Amino acid sequence: MPTGLDRPLNENSPMTSSPDTRPVLIAGGGIGGLALALTLHQIGVPCVVLEAVPAIQPLGVGINLQPNAVRELYDLGLDADVLDRIGLQAREWALVGRNGSEIYAEPRGLQAGYRWPQYSLHRGELQMLLYRTVLERLGTDAIRLGHRVTGYRQTDDGVTATVETRDGQRMDIEGSLLVAADGLHSAVRAQMHPTQPPIQWGGAIMWRGTTPGLPIRGGASFVGVGSLKHRVVLYPISPPDPTTGLATINWIAEITVDNSQGWTQGDWNRRVAIDDFIHHFEGWDFGWLDVPAMLRGAKEVFEYPMIDRDPVPTWVDGRVALLGDAAHVMYPVGSNGASQAIVDARVLGAALLNHGLTPAALKAYDDKLCADISALVLRNRGSGPFGILGLVDERCGGVFDDIEQVVPAAEREAYMARYKAAAGFAIETLNAAPSTIEAGARLNA
Ligand SMILES: Cc1cc2nc3c(=O)[nH]c(=O)nc-3n(C[C@H](O)[C@H](O)[C@H](O)COP(=O)(O)OP(=O)(O)OC[C@H]3O[C@@H](n4cnc5c(N)ncnc54)[C@H](O)[C@@H]3O)c2cc1C
Repeated sequence: MPTGLDRPLNENSPMTSSPDTRPVLIAGGGIGGLALALTLHQIGVPCVVLEAVPAIQPLGVGINLQPNAVRELYDLGLDADVLDRIGLQAREWALVGRNGSEIYAEPRGLQAGYRWPQYSLHRGELQMLLYRTVLERLGTDAIRLGHRVTGYRQTDDGVTATVETRDGQRMDIEGSLLVAADGLHSAVRAQMHPTQPPIQWGGAIMWRGTTPGLPIRGGASFVGVGSLKHRVVLYPISPPDPTTGLATINWIAEITVDNSQGWTQGDWNRRVAIDDFIHHFEGWDFGWLDVPAMLRGAKEVFEYPMIDRDPVPTWVDGRVALLGDAAHVMYPVGSNGASQAIVDARVLGAALLNHGLTPAALKAYDDKLCADISALVLRNRGSGPFGILGLVDERCGGVFDDIEQVVPAAEREAYMARYKAAAGFAIETLNAAPSTIEAGARLNA
């Protein structure tokens, strides 16, 4: 099988032995790796993405992109015209108790006053959009599929990624820097932090799927129903079909069980039967939402443990940096895994503009993000924005007539404001912040 690395080098090829144009090597062509490739292209830095799978496919189900990440996509030229084609602008975030009564609701995106919307969309569609855009802008040589990065070596002025191809070839690829966006099971992180503990699982299991359904509430609402340890989250990731009125509703059904046996695997694509778990949600029919019917309406369901990794003290080793889930895989309670991967890419791009293709740039990136985002990983472990459900459980066992008597509005609002500030979602701060990367900025321009 051709590896692509034996192609002749030419002007447009990022693979060159000249020291001035050695590419930045990116391990992983997921959301983070592809956002970084587009960022590097924007600022005039050659790069090559080394992706383990032989073909990029639209895998996963729904995710949310927060306004801080949407802003960065807009700055990459992927604006509302483009994103509206693959997702839906979210307008509300709400929590509902096990009795079907509202606990908390707040506007999201433009409705909340952000200058950029929040998008609910299909993870695979977003990855395909980024992939197509990389191919269009950087050319096909910029992505090497079937190239698994297994580790790295470095000298004072360069880095070598060790790579294994699908047909078993091993090769060394040289670059100026290596950025590992190789996800939850990052090989580069394992080498950088050889004593890191195994994956951490707190006991929550998520079943994920999509079902055609009538949108509820305002039609673009993210709704969490139930208690902290037994809940369903749902939101539409498409507008309603004009003929049927049905939208694609993404849902996550979740319970928390005893975690003493541990769960060391994390495979986003493990399929399970609906009958394996639907009994946990029998009777969850509130009239305005029939949870069992929604779960049964899915063509396929994926099971995934809610896992993360203990934060590491640094994401950088000389000319090598971690990005996205490789740096900070976190519980998806705050809908910020993909958003943070995109923001990482932009912050790294800004650091390269300031410091060149140097270890100092990677250190600046690390200094800017590692401590704060590591704290966010731990905060999400403590239930993130769903923490209000925990307060309701604690104070009334989840059963209430008047939520004001259980968690007053001021307390609910203060809780959410603290979470959003920590996650980088604070409205005024984001709206007033200068662009991460100035339009037209180029390295060595
Ligand atoms: C198949 C899949 C499905 C997902 N589904 C969901 C979902 O439904 N909901 C949700 O919230 N999150 C999902 N995620 C996780 C979500 O995409 C990430 O949390 C987030 O987008 C951060 O992106 P990332 O680029 O850091 O990691 P990822 O999006 O996980 O991308 C990592 C990429 O690196 C590649 N890779 C892995 N190891 C190597 C290696 N050694 N060398 C080279 N390449 C490597 C992977 O094939 C992948 O393309 C999924 C991830 C994957 C890979």
